[in-house]
Amino acid sequence: NNINLQLCVGDVRLRCVSVQVQAYLQPFRLSVEKLQDISARLRRDLIRGLGKHSHHRAAVKMLPTFVRATPDGTEKGDFLALDLGGTNFRVLHVRVVEEEQRVLKMDSQICAIPQDIMVGTGEQLFDHIAACLSDFLESQELKGQTLPLGFTFSFPCEQIEIDKSILIRWTKGFNCSGVEGRDVVQLLKEAIHRRGDYDIGSVAMVNDTVGTMMSCGYRDQSCEIGMIIGTGTNACYMEEMKNVKRVEGEDGRMCINTEWGGFGDDGSLKDIQTEFDLIVDKLSINPGVHTFEKMISGMYLGEIVRLLLVRMAEDKLLFGGQLSDALKTEGSFETKFISEIEEGDAGLENGKNILTALGLKWDLNDVRIVRLVCDTISSRSARLCAAALKTIANRIRINRGLDHLKTTVGVDGTVYRKHPNFSQELQDTVRLLAPKCTINFLVSEDGSGKGAAMVTAVAQRLALQSRL
Ligand code: BGC
Ligand code: MG
Repeated sequence: NNINLQLCVGDVRLRCVSVQVQAYLQPFRLSVEKLQDISARLRRDLIRGLGKHSHHRAAVKMLPTFVRATPDGTEKGDFLALDLGGTNFRVLHVRVVEEEQRVLKMDSQICAIPQDIMVGTGEQLFDHIAACLSDFLESQELKGQTLPLGFTFSFPCEQIEIDKSILIRWTKGFNCSGVEGRDVVQLLKEAIHRRGDYDIGSVAMVNDTVGTMMSCGYRDQSCEIGMIIGTGTNACYMEEMKNVKRVEGEDGRMCINTEWGGFGDDGSLKDIQTEFDLIVDKLSINPGVHTFEKMISGMYLGEIVRLLLVRMAEDKLLFGGQLSDALKTEGSFETKFISEIEEGDAGLENGKNILTALGLKWDLNDVRIVRLVCDTISSRSARLCAAALKTIANRIRINRGLDHLKTTVGVDGTVYRKHPNFSQELQDTVRLLAPKCTINFLVSEDGSGKGAAMVTAVAQRLALQSRL
């Protein structure tokens, strides 16, 4: 490749550096055969996760969501939505307008979640959430109403019903005490009652993947997969009820939250985990879990790059062998730097600025090597997502007895949206891996806000229908 060629010209020292750099990067390059193999492993794990007796031990949890239908266009009304677990905490007021088949965001507000609350007690967290909601309702003059609420809670939950949802474990930097094993809806309601200044209507619990699928599903009724590649990563899809052994009933479909981030937690990805992945895991808030997520999502990509750069500098392959205090600091190489450095035209300039800001002494070859490192790590992420997406699309195809499946994936997340060529690489790789599926990608417009309202609206519609 280009960068490689430029490094090899002339000077023998550079050629030697290039060979050593490649040696570090090689373990991150996954062949198509390897990706097919990984996809096959995930296929077995999906089946294990769905099984009545095997799901307890399954790394990929395959959680029933109690979402049984995608929108049919007759939903309507006003809703509140809460969104916790992405980059920001948000509260929203959403209106579903049946006549226009549109979901309108009436207003929304972002509330910061301070670091000490992210790792404080559950009570503090839910009091904070209830307080933000109170402020918002006050400002919107909605305090007198009891609107139904969609709660996008983007963590693995064992859902008992649409409004009863037990947190299995925190992920992505959250670690509040006393919440794991508890019903999150209950905790929210208790916090609201502690205040006593407003009330809410029925609650629907929604994973962000499900919100993403549902918000795209209003525009495109063949949208039956939702995928997030942001701070964390995950996907959901519509599974046949007869395969969902843990939930009564054989008819129709239910959306399954795969929690594919946990893929590999039983050791099944050992062969592709590099020494750098192992360090990232060890330094994380939740060592030993969410193995797949830690190779893919925004919370971790920058850190993988940083660890590589530190090691290469120590081996005198970068920065004349000099490190800086900033680069030695955990988390200092932000995932957004990867996107900035890989930018087509401005990338090298951005790279120079970022390395300077990190207190490093660089020359042009250093910048090029850093760019190559970023490219390798983001490519691995995109290709791993592609392998996992292939597994899901193919499962839907086989479930329906089709030779060819045409389907739409609703997607969201900062990595997918902001990285200059992540989405292209993901799509190209899926096409290669899944020739029997034609997958259309639709970037979700505010899945965790509008999508959550959609889930709540569909749940209301179904409840009404079953009463008639
Ligand atoms: C969580 C998922 C979530 C994903 C994307 C993961 O860490 O376990 O529930 O969907 O992040 O936000
Ligand atoms: Mg069943």
